[in-house]
Amino acid sequence: MALERTFSIIKPDATRRNLTGKIIAKFEEGGLRVVASRRIHMTRRQAESFYGVHRERPFFGELVDFMISGPVVVQVLEGENAIARNREIMGATDPSKADAGTIRAEFAESIGENSVHGSDAPETARQEIAHFFSEADIVG
Ligand code: GDP
Repeated sequence: MALERTFSIIKPDATRRNLTGKIIAKFEEGGLRVVASRRIHMTRRQAESFYGVHRERPFFGELVDFMISGPVVVQVLEGENAIARNREIMGATDPSKADAGTIRAEFAESIGENSVHGSDAPETARQEIAHFFSEADIVG
């Protein structure tokens, strides 16, 4: 297994409920390290661009409105097999289908307001990290 980096967002439903510490603890307990982090309020343009791949999906407007409804924490997570590991720690998109102990099972409110985002593949991880961070922002 290789040391990998992945991109993560703590979404507005979680920042609103002051859950950032509990969510970061899940990453750390799961073997991932936060090597870059910033709290931001995304613009509509940023959210539309970030989720551009979902533009044709029926929930796109709802997703963008949600992602700009409050602050988010954008992060780079590093660890062995970090992309897959992060997705295990997050759990399934729909919290009712997420395994017990995962972030989404414990904290998510619905399939849309599901507390966290995580990259799904090496190429998307690279692109998503570059969307928000420069190499100099990442301290491993
Ligand atoms: P992920 O990789 O597990 O985040 O899931 P997807 O890439 O399939 O979807 C991206 C995000 O779109 C999800 O995390 C949800 O916030 C949102 N989303 C997915 N499906 C739905 C849906 O059916 N309704 C709504 N409102 N949002 C959805």
